[in-house]
Amino acid sequence: MTTELGLPETIQACLFDLDGVVTRTAVVHAAAWKEMFDAFLREREGPGFRPFDPVADYDEYVDGRPRADGVRTFLESRGIRLPEGGPGDPPDAETVHGLGNRKNDLLLEKIRTDGVEAYDGTLRYLRAVRARGLRTAIVSSSANCRDVLRAIDAEPLFDVRVDGVVAAERGLPGKPRPDTFLAAARDLGVPAGRAAVYEDALAGMDAGRAGGFGYVVGVDRVGQTDALYAHGADRVVKDLDELMGEEK
Ligand SMILES: [Mg+2]
Repeated sequence: MTTELGLPETIQACLFDLDGVVTRTAVVHAAAWKEMFDAFLREREGPGFRPFDPVADYDEYVDGRPRADGVRTFLESRGIRLPEGGPGDPPDAETVHGLGNRKNDLLLEKIRTDGVEAYDGTLRYLRAVRARGLRTAIVSSSANCRDVLRAIDAEPLFDVRVDGVVAAERGLPGKPRPDTFLAAARDLGVPAGRAAVYEDALAGMDAGRAGGFGYVVGVDRVGQTDALYAHGADRVVKDLDELMGEEK
């Protein structure tokens, strides 16, 4: 193990998820999804509708996935199919992309009102990683990744960014497929087996396992340690701080 970073010595690059790992935005995403889905379900099924669960449904069907995949996967779990539509659909369109855009409007409104907060433990860990000469990437399904990083002045901490915008440009499928993480490792010039993945989403764990990465760290912010291990984590921590200063 690399003492100080809690990683195998073979690791040369670290690939970080954004929402829930670097920033406290996973809960903001979950709240925006809930507001959007509950309004949709209430209108469709009446006041007896079963609400979106911001922990269980969010973890299982939405977290970590590209926006349209999140809409489709959750609706499928309720036996609902909507037309796909397209990325330019207005937020009131009854389509997968329309609902996705409705959620994104709510998210941006919440971020504008409340701001974005970083996890200090992650920022300390990132600085330690870079001080030891390892390369870093941010790998997020979010199309708002760059704005969020700028809001917390964290853009310079990453050598490479593979986010929702880059994935769309390159035609990369999102998590739980490993393609965005693999692209980030390739951009850094490091084989997957020598890269570590840091993720809080179950879909992110699946991507880490499917990509054959050298080490997968699950970050448990909501009490889902067992599920993170079940989805392929090598190690689960509550905060990246815990990885630092370990002797092994
Ligand atoms: Mg996340």
